[in-house]
Amino acid sequence: MTHHIQYERLLPSAPGTSRTVGIHRFGVPGALPKIYLQGALHADELPGAYILHHLIERLRKADRAGAIKGEIVVVPLANPIGLAQRIQAIHAGRSDLGLGGNFNRNYADLSAPLHEHLGRFAPEAISEETVRAFLRLEVEAITQKTELDSLKKTLLALAIDADYVFDLHCDDEAPVYVYLSDENHPQAVSLTRDLGARAAIAGTSEMATFKDACARPWQIASRIAGRPLHGCLAATIEYRGTRDVNEETAQSDAKRLYAFMQRVKILDGEPEPLPPAFSPITPLAGVEHLQADRPGIIVFRRQPGEQIAAGETVAEIVDPVSGDRSLIKTFAGGVFFGHVATRLAVPGSTIASLAGIAPRMQTGEEAYP
Ligand SMILES: [Zn+2]
Repeated sequence: MTHHIQYERLLPSAPGTSRTVGIHRFGVPGALPKIYLQGALHADELPGAYILHHLIERLRKADRAGAIKGEIVVVPLANPIGLAQRIQAIHAGRSDLGLGGNFNRNYADLSAPLHEHLGRFAPEAISEETVRAFLRLEVEAITQKTELDSLKKTLLALAIDADYVFDLHCDDEAPVYVYLSDENHPQAVSLTRDLGARAAIAGTSEMATFKDACARPWQIASRIAGRPLHGCLAATIEYRGTRDVNEETAQSDAKRLYAFMQRVKILDGEPEPLPPAFSPITPLAGVEHLQADRPGIIVFRRQPGEQIAAGETVAEIVDPVSGDRSLIKTFAGGVFFGHVATRLAVPGSTIASLAGIAPRMQTGEEAYP
């Protein structure tokens, strides 16, 4: 059997204390394909962590049966710093309460050093292994001063040479949806179908999210090699809303992830037939964020998961003092994939998001989960 749990110690933030990251490892190190999965990078988003608990149970069985062919690394709780951030009984796990900001931003961009490195090779001599070996060394060389630096470096080191990187998050209130690094990856469509994603949004942003940090070097490598090097399909998977931790969906989601891993030959065994697609893959630039135009109470008129046509009303904002009502309508429409948990409208804040077919606007910092 290959399964073991490893604990990686972070740099201390206070004298005499330190935190660790718990890592489940399956398969022979270096075996391909490699998959890396992590949960609760935004530490108050726990549905993914519970799905990974069930996935680990399934993988332990597969390991006993000798069915693991590739390498599998699972970190169910990726953010021990954020897990400890409670303010008067409220868990605030999305952003570092120190100076680090959003936990899913500003990962090291290894594209520039990779670009320089690959410039020394003839394009036909650039292989997936050339890229992987360089990325491993570059992550090792990242300097770290703070506990948060060491967390980011630890997670990136586990993921950077993987063929598949799945970062499990959730929205406030939403169906399952996914941000993909690359819609042209041969497994992109089957992943969205295996996940049962109601929306699938493809592209990399300028925010250097964990997904972007893992995928972006491969885009550079493909450009220099002059052919697609599908080294990493990275996905930020949004598993419904923050309160959607339940037994039935977690079991089902773990089963779906397991089927995908069979489909791409990380695991032995015949996967279940590919489920139907709910939505085409749409561009990140086609995401429409609906914003509050006045202060008031938000009353949603439509449900996340629904298809909304151009110009339809998604919500109303009601000011009970003046009696004014405002209709919040879509511009181009698309799949309504999530809305905020609060019902207090603050002018200018995003209250709902839709995935549309046509590129029309940039994704805002505030609205990206
Ligand atoms: Zn998140």
